[in-house]
Parts: sequence; C-alpha cells; structure tokens
Amino acid sequence: MDLDYTQQQRAFRVEAREWLEANVPAQALQSMDTEQGFAAHREWETKLNEGGWAMVSWPVEYGGRGVDLIEWLIFEEEYYRAGAPGRVNQNGIFLLGPTLMEFGSDEQKARFLPPMAAGIDVWAQGWSEPNAGSDMAAIRTTAFRDGDHYVVNGQKTWCSRAVWADWIFCIFRTDPDSERHRGLSFMLVPLDAEGVQVRAIEQLDGETGFAEVFFDNVRVPVDQLLGEEGGGWKVAMSTAGFERGLMLRSPARYQATARKLVALLRDNPEAAQRDPTLGDRVIRGWMQAEAYALQTYRTASRIIGGGSIGAESSLNKIFWSEMDLAMHETAMALLGPRAELLPTARAAGDVGDWLDGFQFALAGPIYAGTNEIQRNIAAERLLGLPRG
Ligand SMILES: Cc1cc2nc3c(=O)[nH]c(=O)nc-3n(C[C@H](O)[C@H](O)[C@H](O)COP(=O)(O)OP(=O)(O)OC[C@H]3O[C@@H](n4cnc5c(N)ncnc54)[C@H](O)[C@@H]3O)c2cc1C
Repeated sequence: MDLDYTQQQRAFRVEAREWLEANVPAQALQSMDTEQGFAAHREWETKLNEGGWAMVSWPVEYGGRGVDLIEWLIFEEEYYRAGAPGRVNQNGIFLLGPTLMEFGSDEQKARFLPPMAAGIDVWAQGWSEPNAGSDMAAIRTTAFRDGDHYVVNGQKTWCSRAVWADWIFCIFRTDPDSERHRGLSFMLVPLDAEGVQVRAIEQLDGETGFAEVFFDNVRVPVDQLLGEEGGGWKVAMSTAGFERGLMLRSPARYQATARKLVALLRDNPEAAQRDPTLGDRVIRGWMQAEAYALQTYRTASRIIGGGSIGAESSLNKIFWSEMDLAMHETAMALLGPRAELLPTARAAGDVGDWLDGFQFALAGPIYAGTNEIQRNIAAERLLGLPRG
C-alpha cells in the first residue's frame, strides 16, 4: 500500500471539491424517509449524475469516471467534507451496482446501470421476510418458472424506502424442494409490476421510510434473473459483502462525525469539566474513525491488486456500527439534557442533528445483518471455531 497520493489523485480531489462547493444545496434537504425529502434527494442524484459524480468508480459508459477505489474514497472524503446530502439510491449504487458488475450480463449492465446512476431508477432491497431476518436462508417467498417468466408469491419486509422506490432486488426460492441457502435466485423486480403491493410501515417518528412488499402472482421476465437460477445465495453474499465491508459506509462518513464531535467538545467545555471521561471518549472516536479509514485504504489497495473482500467484511460492519453508536452516545452525553430536544426547540442551542443521528446509529448494529450474526460469522469463518 502506497501511503502517498499521486499527482492525478490530488488533481481529482481538487476537481471534486470545486464541483461540490459550487453545487451542494445550501439548505439541508428534508429527510429522505419522507415523500418530499425522497423527491429532493432524487433530484440531487440527477445533479450528481449530470456532473459525472454519481458513482465515480463505474466505467464511463455506465455513468461513471472509470477511476479506482482510492479515488472513490477521495471523492467520499470531499463529499462528506462538503456536507452533501445522503444518497437516496444507496441500495442501487453501492450494493446492486457492484453486484451487477460482477454477475450481470452485458445487456443487464447496459440496461440497469445508467438509469441507476441518473437517479431515474431508485432501488430498494428485498431480502428480509417476517421469519427470515438474521436467518436469511429461511426465506419462503417463491418464484416458479413459467415459460420465459418467473411467477412470484410471498412477502418481504423492512424494505427501506420501497414506498417511493422504482425497483427492488430480491432473493426468492426457485426450487420448492430446496432448503436453506440452496435453490434461491436473485431477481430484479419493478415495484409497479402487476401484483406487487407496497405497504408503508410507519416509524415511531411518524415517517414512513420502511415498507412491506407483497407479491401476488407477479410475473418477472427471466432476463431479470441475476446470476444463475438456484445460485442466488452466492450473488446475495457478494452484495452483502459490499454492504458490510466497503461501499455502503465509507470512512469519510465517520471522520465527518468525529470532526463534528471535536467541535462539540470545544463548544461545551463545561461538559468536559463535569465529566472528564468525555474528552477521552471524543479522542477515541476520532482515532477509531482514522483507523477505519486506514483499514479501508488497505482493503481498497488489496482489491485494486486483484484481491477480494470476504468474511472480514463482517468485522468492518461490527466496527463501523459500534464506532458510530459510541460517537453519537458521546455527543448525547456532551449535550446533557438538551440532547433530547429537537433542533427547533427554544432551548436547543447547538443540538444540531445529533438526536437524529443518534436514533439512526441505534439501528447500525441491526441493519446489514445484526452484529450478533457478524460475530458468529467471524467466529466460524475467521477463527475456525465450531458452529454453536
Ligand atoms: C434501519 C434498517 C433498515 C433496514 N433495511 C432493510 C432493507 O432495505 N431491506 C431488507 O431486506 N431488510 C432491511 N432491514 C432488516 C434487517 O436486515 C433485519 O432487521 C436484520 O437482518 C435482523 O433481522 P430481524 O429484524 O428479523 O431480527 P431477528 O433475526 O429476529 O433477530 C432478533 C435478535 O436475535 C439475534 N439473533 C438471531 N439469530 C441469532 C443467532 N443465530 N445467534 C445470535 N443471535 C441471534 C439477532 O442478532 C437480534 O439481536 C433493515 C433494518 C433496519 C433496522
């Protein structure tokens, strides 16, 4: 691993910084878990694509710049430094996109990647079912082959932003006699297909960012199968690797949180006096964010050199989710009783969006596969311990 940036990488950083400075909306967008916020975030995706920044590491013909993962990391650093909006199409660009590159036919790549980059097709993820969350191999939604279609019946749940998304990628059971992770297939389904019903799940805060998706004899053309029939588990595990290990949560996100945390400590010296351990917790958050960045650069260098990311993506997932939660807990402790106020409250002061961030950080150990499951994977596949 070369710890110095090349001339080209430095120039790339300057170009990204200048574009973001000129284009990032001055006002934060409404939450993407609301209808208006979702639409505003989709517009932002379109703008990013027009500037050629939708997904810089993709080939040019699919809407990218053909740069390597190091430049992607540089772009992410500039993105978070600029305070740019969250990526509403994260399931598409960060998870399905790389999976299509690995398993998609040329036709599938040409068909699905450009509209994904342009924010025309926003994607949801349809893996969890009511009795198949952690135990994903227990999924029961079926897809039977009928001529040049599959016919899908069943239910998915906890599909983030499926209420407003255009497409969903799913795994279904295509072999009725199969068990566990055999006999599953990975398919791409438009959410407006006949027989698909999307029902919003209201969250405690009243937002409807989650949905259940019901399939009633939905006909999916066979050219929307990704990878081989019956080979869906392998494809899904590749997607999960991107989700846990590299793409979904770049270090820049946590470095930005660490910077904000240091500023919060500086602005609240009386809190640090009240509880001297708070300073240590802030420093630990900062160091962990830097350590995660270095580790990610190492992983990216290895992948560029032809390597791949395997079970270690589970370690990454545990690390980023616990680090994020710890930093937000520290911020809440620094803010004291004010922490629970909405930014619009009269006595809010500098609470900013910490409460919002804290609530989302609580979900970090759950989504992308719970941390208990990631620890099981690490124990069995990295340490070679017996299955419990
Ligand atoms: C913010 C958020 C966004 C999400 N978005 C999506 C999405 O877009 N698409 C999608 O398909 N899903 C999504 N999910 C669902 C998520 O993937 C599941 O919640 C997760 O996999 C856990 O499944 P479960 O909720 O059924 O819990 P369960 O599997 O019922 O687990 C309950 C508890 O038991 C523990 N547990 C279960 N089995 C074991 C075991 N063998 N060993 C040790 N502990 C165990 C779990 O770790 C957990 O603590 C999202 C979840 C959240 C919170």
